[in-house]
Amino acid sequence: MLGLMQDRPLLITTIMEYAATYHPDHEIVTRAVEGGIHRTNYGEIAQRAARLAHALTRLGIHQGECISTLAWNSYRHLELYLAVPGMGAILNTVNPRLFPEQISYILNNSAARILFLDLTFLPQIEKLADKIPAVEKIVIMTDRAHMPATSLDNILCYEELVAAEDTRFDWPELDENTAAGLCYTSGTTGDPKGALYSHRSTVLHSLSACTRDSLGLSSAEVVLPIVPMFHVNAWGTPYAATLSGARLVLPGAEMTGENFYNLMRDEGCTIALGVPTIWLALLQYVATLKDQDLTSLPIKNFIIGGSAAAPSLIDSLEKTFDATVIHAWGMTETSPLGSVNRPLAKYAHLSDQQKMAIKVKQGRPPFGIEMKIVDDDGHDLPHDGVAFGRLMVRGPWVAKGYFKQPELNILDDDGYFDTGDVSTLDPDGYMTIVDRSKDVIKSGGEWISSIDLENIALGHPQVAEAAVIGIAHPKWQERPLLIIVPNAGETPTKQDILDYLQGKIAKWWTPDDVVFIEEMPHTATGKTQKRALRTLFSDFTFG
Ligand code: ADP
Repeated sequence: MLGLMQDRPLLITTIMEYAATYHPDHEIVTRAVEGGIHRTNYGEIAQRAARLAHALTRLGIHQGECISTLAWNSYRHLELYLAVPGMGAILNTVNPRLFPEQISYILNNSAARILFLDLTFLPQIEKLADKIPAVEKIVIMTDRAHMPATSLDNILCYEELVAAEDTRFDWPELDENTAAGLCYTSGTTGDPKGALYSHRSTVLHSLSACTRDSLGLSSAEVVLPIVPMFHVNAWGTPYAATLSGARLVLPGAEMTGENFYNLMRDEGCTIALGVPTIWLALLQYVATLKDQDLTSLPIKNFIIGGSAAAPSLIDSLEKTFDATVIHAWGMTETSPLGSVNRPLAKYAHLSDQQKMAIKVKQGRPPFGIEMKIVDDDGHDLPHDGVAFGRLMVRGPWVAKGYFKQPELNILDDDGYFDTGDVSTLDPDGYMTIVDRSKDVIKSGGEWISSIDLENIALGHPQVAEAAVIGIAHPKWQERPLLIIVPNAGETPTKQDILDYLQGKIAKWWTPDDVVFIEEMPHTATGKTQKRALRTLFSDFTFG
């Protein structure tokens, strides 16, 4: 027998309409790409999304088509987030930091006829123009006064496009499984792969993100997503913030510690989200400020994901701002929230050191996400916090396949997706990433976690960034090489670093060498680019 409850579809339009009805005056603040601070609210955003949907209809966009963006975190991008899926089309946010051939691959794969572009990215697209034949029109996300000179002839101005349109749109009542968003993984191997989110997966993910044990967004919070809207939908915060009515503060094109700090201070942000390198930039900037009481800022939570948050980073942020760091894990294929680290009540009495040992874990899955770890033969491993294996996940916001790649079966027999991460699961359900499976160092039949070594090395006061890669070794198969970027003006020696590690790691984990470089290569999503390091050190041999 079926239940007798209403079968209302879970649609992104309902998120927008709820915000427009119940939080119309809650603000969206943007550090505008054109300069200055721009203020709007959910009421106006919904009206402008309606105008945009009319304009796109006028341009011939129909349901099921992709619209691509290369854009920063801004109110116009939020309008696209709402209008495009709302009308039944698919929003494809492209990461402008990818290589040109990856960007053109994505634009050709999504077959978007309209590309929305922030001013910053015009030169990149001018160079790519003859490689993206499907793109018919490029909309520059600005007003007439700021329209740039360009060699392209198929250019439109965003504000002109929407100006004359109606502020009401008859949003279609779509099937909730209709595709809504398309994000590509950065494709560290092979071409980027597209995760295709649905309205249903997006709404469920947003509801989950708003729970107290997850990101905890609510109408009382002021949220600063520094993670870009071109990186897994800024971890879903634009939708979750709109659903909750949280005040949203968007940093625009200025990815500097100074901008983040000024926004946190001036707008009273309570929750800020980003990858570890972002927080390094913030900490470096605030270290230059004199006589500022940073602990009185209203910031409560820094949410860190994308790569491992080292204890030294957690500690610095918490002490500097008198705030709590929440470590989270996820990936493009998981929308991305797969786990969030909130402490269980029973940990309240633990010492600071014991609490830190828990905080560095990647956290527990929210309701909806199921996790298991398996060995290479697919057999379940115990959740004892020690055994480690391939992390497998399933849930209503986890991918079951890739866009336009129906031949790829990415699930096991029970419907679990292989994350490519190696993890432990402890008896309380906390997951710890040991490594990406391709980064783990295989030494004499045992594994060394590059993340663990990096986390410990980062605790050295003279170390800014650390990365560990495996170097081929005639006897042990691989041995760890520790690569360090020292803090500005510091010159630690190899012996200083090895002395620091001693006693903190098993002896056989000790790196066989330590090298110093000036700058760490980063991926398009701000992670250490291990592949580039492997190339850089391909001829390296241990002396
Ligand atoms: P990209 O490689 O394009 O940045 P994703 O954002 O999908 O792609 O990256 C997902 C991967 O990032 C995960 O599989 C995991 O290896 C890594 N990751 C994400 N969050 C964390 C975390 N908190 N700690 C360690 N690794 C993480």
